[in-house]
Amino acid sequence: MSDFNAAAFRQHFPFFAAQPDWIYLDNAATTHKPFAVLETLDHFYRQQNSNVHRGAHKLSQMATILYEEARSCIQQYVNAAEPAEIIFTSGTTAALNQLAFGLMHTVLKPGDRILISALEHHANIVSWQLHCQRFGVILDVIPLDSQLQLDQSAFEQLLTLHPKVVSLTQVSNALGTVLPLASMLQAAKAAGAITVVDGAQGIVWDKPDLQQLAADFYCFSGHKLYGPTGIGVLYGKRALLERLTPLLGGGEMIEQVSFSHSSFNHLPARLEAGTPHIAGALGLAAAIRFISQFDVSQIKSYKRLLLKTFHDGLQHIPGIVVLSPWQDNAGIVTLNLQGEHSADVATLLNEQRIAVRAGRHCAMPLFDLMATAGAVRFAFAPYNQISEVEQCLKALTQAAEILAS
Ligand code: PMP
Repeated sequence: MSDFNAAAFRQHFPFFAAQPDWIYLDNAATTHKPFAVLETLDHFYRQQNSNVHRGAHKLSQMATILYEEARSCIQQYVNAAEPAEIIFTSGTTAALNQLAFGLMHTVLKPGDRILISALEHHANIVSWQLHCQRFGVILDVIPLDSQLQLDQSAFEQLLTLHPKVVSLTQVSNALGTVLPLASMLQAAKAAGAITVVDGAQGIVWDKPDLQQLAADFYCFSGHKLYGPTGIGVLYGKRALLERLTPLLGGGEMIEQVSFSHSSFNHLPARLEAGTPHIAGALGLAAAIRFISQFDVSQIKSYKRLLLKTFHDGLQHIPGIVVLSPWQDNAGIVTLNLQGEHSADVATLLNEQRIAVRAGRHCAMPLFDLMATAGAVRFAFAPYNQISEVEQCLKALTQAAEILAS
């Protein structure tokens, strides 16, 4: 049994009272928002709204203080060395694109190698690919073993090619696999690489300690951690952030501008051109304060209980083909009904008001490797109840019967 009170946790989320008929299992796409986040957004726009960093007036100064407090809150949560190492972005995608652009222009040279894994989301593939050809940089991929885990001996081999950057997801959004990140990052650092973590799914599974983890950069999105959409974080070690060429130019990020030349501001402003998502930053800090009230290890064991309930129930449904691992899984199960199209299964579940996602989950190369056209993804969050998993299993059983008839 788990000590975590999922029913009480759920009470913090008004969505479930507003949509009592729905079972929401699309949490890897985005999570719902607790009162604390919604009230922060509402309060900011109703009572505190002003732009940051530029006004001579008190309101702007107040908004600036709130915005910088939000940065410090996030810094403390992820244990970054200083607030300036937290760069606000619009999300993981924006963070990875800034990183790829910034490193290509400064650190990487023609012939250099970047190493990613076969489990990556498109955001951690395409953001590098966009520049590889132009800069003459080679993208290598750690393959999977027969268990769909990353092949660790192939990884060691690829490290002997001395990649300049190793960029890995913490948790596969497509399969739920939790990567052995600590050891892989250490090995990458020992091989001399700059290490990057796509924490989009990892941030809700584990609280990162960025002074412990051998990560030079860590990216995440607020909306997967009960925060607003349109806000995310690029964390980086100061010395490396300072080497990144800014992807966006404009107001705030400059020191001096003339028509022939511009010099850049200090961190974090240097990498935050334009008006930021101020309310979003405050909302993300509210989400972090909210989640900090709960015990991460209790939430983990509760998610394992949801997984076990799902696993046990699936054994009674004929024709289920599970792609996800059951060990070291962050609460995401991807599966198919043998011979059926994943979209058909998801459509039947949707008719029963069960929200899941079907398809290739922004991981087309992974699905190509698995020789699978797509799959249905069930992504659990701590506000999901055991009874919802049971209802979902019933709906899947019915879907299997309908499709077989
Ligand atoms: N990486 C992973 C592992 C993800 O799951 C996602 C979101 N599905 C992203 C990157 C991109 O995040 P966002 O769309 O919030 O930028």
